Amino acid sequence: MRAAIDNVDRDQCFRWALNNRKPVMNWCTDRVALLGDAVHPTLPYMAQGAAMAIEDAAVLSRALALDMPMAEALQAFQNHRAPRAARVVRESTEMGDLYHIADAQQMKQAFKDRNIAASRNNWLYPYDPMNVDLMSQAG
Ligand SMILES: Cc1cc2nc3c(=O)[nH]c(=O)nc-3n(C[C@H](O)[C@H](O)[C@H](O)COP(=O)(O)OP(=O)(O)OC[C@H]3O[C@@H](n4cnc5c(N)ncnc54)[C@H](O)[C@@H]3O)c2cc1C
Repeated sequence: MRAAIDNVDRDQCFRWALNNRKPVMNWCTDRVALLGDAVHPTLPYMAQGAAMAIEDAAVLSRALALDMPMAEALQAFQNHRAPRAARVVRESTEMGDLYHIADAQQMKQAFKDRNIAASRNNWLYPYDPMNVDLMSQAG
């Protein structure tokens, strides 16, 4: 890895800013809804940005098929999705802190203490956007 870095053309390198934003819970008006990065830009430390955008799209398509006025369908979409996306935004931010621990031993311990696999198997990965109850709040 270090050899690869040493051999790149330094004139062709640039810094890629990582900008963080607190979760937003207001995603829609009566006729317009935002989804994906447009409404929940997320730091990359959980690799879930695209996953959340795809889940949004699946849930939005189901909400629009409900037998209710569009404004209520968009509200249902927002109410269901916003808490889950906010959780991912917050946890991704927290994971960034772990990835930037300078001491290797401390970093190892921090990941162990956090028990990421257990947590994510509990709430992140089992979520099924095609079958989840849209009238619930996703966590
Ligand atoms: C290096 C990197 C690695 C990543 N790895 C992962 C990963 O492992 N797992 C994961 O889940 N996520 C990952 N992500 C995040 C993921 O790519 C984004 O969260 C996801 O692409 C968001 O999808 P989106 O449709 O909301 O937005 P985008 O993919 O950004 O799509 C928006 C589209 O709108 C277009 N657009 C913008 N303005 C206009 C306009 N005025 N008119 C018409 N079109 C317009 C853009 O060109 C773009 O095609 C990664 C991101 C990066 C940068």
